[in-house]
Amino acid sequence: MVKFGPSGNSESFFEDGFTKTIEAPKWVKEKDLDLFEYSFGKGYVLSSETASLIGEEFKKYDIELSLHAPYFINFANPDSEMYEKTKGYIRTGIKFLHLMGAQRLIFHPGSCGKMSREDAFALTKSRFEEFMKELDDEGLLDGIYLCPETMGKQMQIGTVEEVLELCQTNEHLIPTFDFGHINARENGSLKTKNDFEKIFDLCEEKLGKARTDIAHVHFSKIEYGQKGEIRHLNFDDNLYGPNFEPLAEIINERGLNLHIICESAGHQAEDAQFMKKVYESARQNL
Ligand SMILES: [Zn+2]
Repeated sequence: MVKFGPSGNSESFFEDGFTKTIEAPKWVKEKDLDLFEYSFGKGYVLSSETASLIGEEFKKYDIELSLHAPYFINFANPDSEMYEKTKGYIRTGIKFLHLMGAQRLIFHPGSCGKMSREDAFALTKSRFEEFMKELDDEGLLDGIYLCPETMGKQMQIGTVEEVLELCQTNEHLIPTFDFGHINARENGSLKTKNDFEKIFDLCEEKLGKARTDIAHVHFSKIEYGQKGEIRHLNFDDNLYGPNFEPLAEIINERGLNLHIICESAGHQAEDAQFMKKVYESARQNL
């Protein structure tokens, strides 16, 4: 099943008088959405007890929860102490997956820093190979997915090709295709259906059908400049894109079961609802 939901709480959630994420599952259910992404972007500032309570509430309303790991993760930082921290952020993320009954941990692979892109990626990949084996040997990848994300800025690790190559290191890795990021990084590359199609073709070639079918998706419109991403927008933007319509057709034609999280700048629930409607009407037209 294709699922849609917001990343974090929308402006309208607060306008409706709510303040806490534990109130979000009921609200999201009433919006006829299916998913919610909880962000630990600024760190794991949540007690285990609260995390479990939030998880239970999402389960009660049958809203699937995914978690976004801290933005500080950087597999390309050559400093070994920083690499230990990166590994710790992933391990803690896995702990929170279990506490909250979630299955997917989304994270940003890293940034080139002062290294050449080739060196930074080579380091990232060798660390993925080492660390994913370590986690797998400990049984920590059972029943979960780690989801490295395609990134919006030129200096970041995370082109489509790089993310797919990283996902080849372990079968518990599935890509997060952030189409706003891809479009921003490539200065407006996602216009036609074929532009999206190529990404799914490549994913199938590198990771096979099964993992392509369940890929994680972030979708929002993003303003960009020379170096890529500048800021997230709402769907009322008509300048930067990308548009969801071509993707809706592909999902239907290929029968994909993507999880689609909307990261709009404040209207994420409304824009997720919009995408769900576009997807459903594309399905009628098959
Ligand atoms: Zn992200």
